[in-house]
Amino acid sequence: MYNIIKIIISILVVAQFTYSSDYVLLISFDGFRWDYLERGITPNLNEFAKKGVRAISLQPSYPSVTFSNHYSIVTGLYPENHGIIGNHIYNPINKTEYSLKDNDAVSDPRWYIGEAVWETARRNGIITASFFWPGSELKLEYRRPNYFVPFNPKIPYKNRIDSVIGWLKLPYEVKPKFITLYFEEADNKGHDFGPNSPNVDTAIMRLDSLFGYLIEQIRRINFQDSINIIVVSDHGMTEIQKNKIINLSHYLNIGKIKVNSYGYLISITGEKDSLEKLYNTLKQKEKNFKVYKKQELPSFYHFSQNPWIGEVLVIPEIGWTVSKDSSEYTYKLLGNHGYDNYWLDMHGIFIASGPKFKQNYKVGTIMNIDIYPLICKILNITPRGNIDGKLERIEFILK
Ligand code: AMP
Ligand code: ZN
Ligand code: ZN
Repeated sequence: MYNIIKIIISILVVAQFTYSSDYVLLISFDGFRWDYLERGITPNLNEFAKKGVRAISLQPSYPSVTFSNHYSIVTGLYPENHGIIGNHIYNPINKTEYSLKDNDAVSDPRWYIGEAVWETARRNGIITASFFWPGSELKLEYRRPNYFVPFNPKIPYKNRIDSVIGWLKLPYEVKPKFITLYFEEADNKGHDFGPNSPNVDTAIMRLDSLFGYLIEQIRRINFQDSINIIVVSDHGMTEIQKNKIINLSHYLNIGKIKVNSYGYLISITGEKDSLEKLYNTLKQKEKNFKVYKKQELPSFYHFSQNPWIGEVLVIPEIGWTVSKDSSEYTYKLLGNHGYDNYWLDMHGIFIASGPKFKQNYKVGTIMNIDIYPLICKILNITPRGNIDGKLERIEFILK
């Protein structure tokens, strides 16, 4: 009798594994603007979207840059609450700096205040993996996905896909249920040549054909009915015009302040009186840009509740570039992002298909902070409390 019960239990376990439909593959095409799918050059992505859910656009959080938004997607938090308030951060309290180009900073857990979905999943005994994602390389083992690869843009795109397929072929006990995958091509070409360039079209076609390859490989291992694939981008891209550059070097070259300038934003910290003086000066000069004290920033930006955000912020009008000097970087770009997250040019894509998603279902704009609770729902785990994202705003896209 005891043996029969044992056999029945093992049959049930195997059956559950065979028919499990709660795997999640989260793919990011960096800088893939919402309307790139409308150019008639993405047959694979469009066919995939038709089978599942497609949002008109994915609204990033402010500022619309890579690290802030990839981390919002996996934490359900606004950047002011998850800590990654930009690709570059200055902590005025201990005078340390974070930059996406600094490996040490990027893997330093002290900058990452959120709980990423792989942490939530691991706490629930779920195995996770990442072939790149900002925030996936932290020095603390329990804060990373179980399997992860340190960011290296030289790794060919096809190899990234083959590795993910390799993970899905692992035995059940060690197979990851949540996986991320990342491609930077659309963003790189968007910056270098502008979003309306033939170079960006070529990048879009290349990414689409890689996506086709991925889907084919998933079919080959017969995993199409088990996996839920969510394709997102962190932000869009807008064309930068050389006659829309505001050089503020004349005003910013004063002592006792620290100026961080990114084109779409200038963030200033420093001594109180100097900041007050600077604020008043810039206020008189407002033209094609606005200057704010941090606490004055309109609340819909959700960009004030963090000590790492500068005390004075200079925000250009959409499409304009603010600069603290005539640095080559600022003047070389033909495309950029980081602007107002309500501006459609800054919006990315959201398409999802798999056993848990509705089919042939088109929806309006989705907020990227809602993706974390959505993934938790699919993985059947409880999201961390006190997040900004809301399951009730997005749950209806599930079956
Ligand atoms: P952005 O300046 O916001 O356009 O950032 C895009 C760039 O971020 C890409 O071109 C990548 O090179 C870089 N990037 C993406 N993921 C990572 C990562 N995990 N570590 C370091 N850099 C990254
Ligand atoms: Zn990006
Ligand atoms: Zn970019």
